[in-house]
Amino acid sequence: KSGQKPLLSLRNINMTFGGIKALKNVSFDVLPGEVHCLAGENGSGKSTLIKIVTGVYRPEPGASIDYDGQTYSHMSPVTAQAAGIKVIWQDLALFPEMSVAENIAFQTVLGRWPRFVNYARMRETAIRALARLGVSLDVDLPLKEYPISQRQIVAIARALVGEAKLVFMDEPTASLTQSETDHLLDIVRTLSASGVAVVFVSHRLAEVLDISSRLTVLRDGALVGVYPATGMTQSRITELMTGKTFDHE
Ligand code: ADP
Ligand code: MG
Repeated sequence: KSGQKPLLSLRNINMTFGGIKALKNVSFDVLPGEVHCLAGENGSGKSTLIKIVTGVYRPEPGASIDYDGQTYSHMSPVTAQAAGIKVIWQDLALFPEMSVAENIAFQTVLGRWPRFVNYARMRETAIRALARLGVSLDVDLPLKEYPISQRQIVAIARALVGEAKLVFMDEPTASLTQSETDHLLDIVRTLSASGVAVVFVSHRLAEVLDISSRLTVLRDGALVGVYPATGMTQSRITELMTGKTFDHE
């Protein structure tokens, strides 16, 4: 994949919160369709970086965001959404009382007369998005009937409906069991195979690396480096994240 033109290219990203430099001149690239692992200790700036790409925060002047052939000084949430940049937050931002179909496809069926929502079309859209992930749920059930792992899938399906090109997952495995995590990683593989790039933040580094092509490491808001995932070990990553070296026997 080397030599491939990046889908996303961030340069000179700086972000300060009340005197705390959360990001220090960070650069970050994502290739089309790759699975990219973003690693760093708590507070290293991972979520802040994601919030800059998705338009939640505006980086300090001097930044540039090249995405899909266009250059931006900052993103807005609307621009990012429309350009196919999606994010799955840990606290999913879904509507438990609404049906699975409504959670996945509500925004797509709001036409000229939003009072008349075409439920049949919404169901179809939702079923198709779930099928892309190799999942079938009863889309008419309220979301609250499903466990957190399935809700995660609903959040991903919703991201797909809007023609996602780049999906950020910020610690989506935190509340999942081992088998639920395995299922989610399978879904990430499927997404990547269909051409969607995925940037994955997780404490389950070994498993995520297994499906990643590259790894970016942040420490105290600064870029440590970008590495091929193959051959990376847990202890090497810990060294990169902490800046401390350990004895290898
Ligand atoms: P990570 O996701 O890697 O754990 P974050 O990006 O959440 O790290 O945080 C990076 C640093 O910025 C931390 O020191 C954190 O306390 C600080 N920070 C993040 N968001 C805010 C905010 N909205 N206001 C103040 N400080 C923040
Ligand atoms: Mg975070």
